[in-house]
Amino acid sequence: MPAQTLREYQRTGIRQILDAYKQGARSVLAVSPTGSGKTTLFAHLAAQLDAGGKRSLILAHRRELVEQASTRLREFDVRHGLILAGTPPSPGARVQVASVQTLTRRALPPADIVIPDEAHLSTAATWTRILEGYPHARILGVTATPWRLAGKPLAGAYDAVVVVATPRELREQRHLSDYVGFSYLAPDLSGVETVGGDYNEAQSAAAMSQSLIVDNIVEEWLKHSARLSTVVFAVTVEHSRQLVERFRSAGVSAEHLDGTTPLTQREGIMRRVASGQTRVLSNVGVCIEGLDIPRLKCCVLARPTKSLARAIQMMGRVRRPWREDGRKVDAEHPSVVARIHDHAFIIRQHGLPDQDRDYSLHAKREAPPSLSTCPQCLAMYDGARCPSCGTEKEPEPLGERVIQTVAEAEQYEFTSATEAAPDAEPARPDKPPVKVRWDTLGRKVEGVLIRKWQEDAPWGGKQWHYLLRGPKRDYDVPGAAQLDKQMAKVAAGVLVWITYTHDTPLPDSKVRREFKVEVDDGEPEPQGECYCATTPRPPCGVCTP
Ligand SMILES: [Zn+2]
Ligand SMILES: [Zn+2]
Repeated sequence: MPAQTLREYQRTGIRQILDAYKQGARSVLAVSPTGSGKTTLFAHLAAQLDAGGKRSLILAHRRELVEQASTRLREFDVRHGLILAGTPPSPGARVQVASVQTLTRRALPPADIVIPDEAHLSTAATWTRILEGYPHARILGVTATPWRLAGKPLAGAYDAVVVVATPRELREQRHLSDYVGFSYLAPDLSGVETVGGDYNEAQSAAAMSQSLIVDNIVEEWLKHSARLSTVVFAVTVEHSRQLVERFRSAGVSAEHLDGTTPLTQREGIMRRVASGQTRVLSNVGVCIEGLDIPRLKCCVLARPTKSLARAIQMMGRVRRPWREDGRKVDAEHPSVVARIHDHAFIIRQHGLPDQDRDYSLHAKREAPPSLSTCPQCLAMYDGARCPSCGTEKEPEPLGERVIQTVAEAEQYEFTSATEAAPDAEPARPDKPPVKVRWDTLGRKVEGVLIRKWQEDAPWGGKQWHYLLRGPKRDYDVPGAAQLDKQMAKVAAGVLVWITYTHDTPLPDSKVRREFKVEVDDGEPEPQGECYCATTPRPPCGVCTP
């Protein structure tokens, strides 16, 4: 058994796990982040126990994970059996690797220790039923993300926790690549309901499928990450295919993958992704755990989630150290820096991947981190300067980035706060309103952009106030008939980022870019009703002179 294949922290981890059992724990949770060699760790432990005549049962919920464990055991020369559909059993082996689904239909093999891989799932009913069959065995849960849905720790299910390594330590030891997370255009999710602890799938798919968001996903990728092999996380199969189509129409080699993709087809896709022939892999649900292709260096988050575990798993897919020239990564030859394109508030909600977290069994749900967003490149960070472009963090509130979401489709309101202007500054006249068009549910909607200078903003200072108003019934568009009214509003809801300082008005080019609208020069032409709804008949004096 080649002990030298273990890294220092893995050796320490195994020792700590065995110590915990000696001190009386029956069940231990080992926290071992993505990229830390989780499979190697427990395969090595099983090998060690096998040599001492003890029996191990490794449990996994997916075929790939069963196969990964089996491969590692073979490397350690450990005789083992597989409990997996379509594979002949070897009941004589002391080490068994089982698919949870297959094992629920077969007799439980004897075991002195049961090792649930991806243990954050081990509180699900199918797993619990299996674990109940081993009242006297030791339990070793292994996971990169020791939280249940909604960020709750796995408290109660285990007696002790061993943190094998933290993501920060792994990055410092160059076992994980550096990364930058960017906060790009995301839809308003405030109207999306919560079902079973996470966002309603149909509603978040509708929000993410708006052409505005889909276009922006492809635009930002072409602008910043087109040279990187990329994994995209989508909400539904339809959404994923929509993204693939949009990438392809931009000339990008993109493929779709989901749980129903036949095995042979799937192997072909994985081969093309691993070789770089396919640049963008869009998937639903299959790449969250276990996808291990080092050249993937960009991750597009187009699937909103309330699950911290899922968020960390998604971002963890692009952290394997990798160099374009195939050279080994070391101090002189750093890995390509991974880029995380967040279009779903994942980072704002769950924090950056390497943030220090409380892994203890009784950890409280952590507050969302306070991160800065770089006004130049939209990188999110917690230091004094942007890790991507080097821009220094500006003192608040000058240049503050204000976010406003409005669920009401007929009214988008954006406020950009500025520092109080000097006393001597002359009053600013409002700029005339302009007629604008934007995209809602794939249809061009007309509205008006109202720009007012406010001397007495609600927060006490002065600011430009932007109001983007659409026609009253702009949710009444083709395609919206299948959605209920609330849904259509969510689908039409848009979140826009604005950077603005008090001494420069927002130029039209920036309006186009930041508000994602087409601007017509000249005055609006309301019909029967003014756009700003001040009065039922124009001229109202606000949007119509
Ligand atoms: Zn920056
Ligand atoms: Zn008006």
